[in-house]
Amino acid sequence: MKIAIVGVGAMGSRFALMLHKSGNDLVLIDGWQPNVQAIRQQGLQADFNGKAVTANIPVYSLEEVDQLQGYQPELIIAFTKSYQLDSAFTKIKALITPQTYVLCLLNGMGHESILKKYVDDNHLLLGITMWTAGLAGPGHATLFGNGNVELKNFGSEGKDFALKVVDVFNDAGLCPKYIDDPKYAIWRKACVNGTLNTLCSILDCNIGELGQTQEAADFLKTIIAEFAAVAAQEGVNLDQAEVYQHVDETFHGDIADHYPSMYQDLLKNHRKTEIDFINGAVWQKGKEYGVATPYCTLITQLIHAKEELLGV
Ligand code: NAD
Repeated sequence: MKIAIVGVGAMGSRFALMLHKSGNDLVLIDGWQPNVQAIRQQGLQADFNGKAVTANIPVYSLEEVDQLQGYQPELIIAFTKSYQLDSAFTKIKALITPQTYVLCLLNGMGHESILKKYVDDNHLLLGITMWTAGLAGPGHATLFGNGNVELKNFGSEGKDFALKVVDVFNDAGLCPKYIDDPKYAIWRKACVNGTLNTLCSILDCNIGELGQTQEAADFLKTIIAEFAAVAAQEGVNLDQAEVYQHVDETFHGDIADHYPSMYQDLLKNHRKTEIDFINGAVWQKGKEYGVATPYCTLITQLIHAKEELLGV
């Protein structure tokens, strides 16, 4: 399949390497100049489950998209951060024809309202991924473990293409699944991010340490209840007990000693967070629906205050 990946950080690199290896025709587009230069000069590199891999894939910066005139990707996969999505798509919109599909697997909520400015509902695919990825530096990803992808066409049409993407991802070993209710999956994952990522970042601790605090259970239940109250307004009935149990299990499982991605972005790398698309989205949506979300509001404000203090 002819695929453009927009946003070639940790996750974009993972999908690029796996989709390239299985024979797809890829183009990479990224907004971070040192990353574009590194990929161009040394190829896209990764430590892939302990094995060094390199792939030579054409790469363009967002400012060089005009050089791609005539290149018509069947699929564009978005892997920017949430807050970069709109500006990146403004710059690549010349690549989007009425036949182009866009797949968004970003964490957080509300991406469809951004992407609807560039593609119609029937050419939009939404979902989540449980793959993980890190960056050792520009052009160099660290890729460990297993994961999967869950996706569906957003509009009533587009199922045939979504199933084609499932086949292509399957060949790449990305373990995809066509699901009936991506909205539920997106809310559920946002709820996990809106508890673990945020609390570990505010408390400067890893997942296991958060779980050891006496307050964790109360915090989690209250935040999850706020997500559920707002999700209900959008026709999504989050199973609060199941989400709580899922988060609670992480306190004692394999990732207990892990510092979530928001922690790494904010406290380690002093980068902006995706908070406005997680707890911040619940706060804003809550305001629209008249649902009080005091914990999500405070968490969003605390994360923004930390971004300010760190000069992000
Ligand atoms: P990322 O920060 O690695 O990359 C996103 C963009 O930021 C890329 O364009 C990248 O080039 C740029 N970037 C990366 N480091 C930079 C730096 N130091 N300075 C300037 N620009 C930089 O983000 P990601 O982890 O690939 O995440 C992309 C999306 O996927 C997000 O919505 C994220 O929540 C989601 N996601 C990530 C993971 C994961 O394990 N990484 C898992 C599931 C979902």
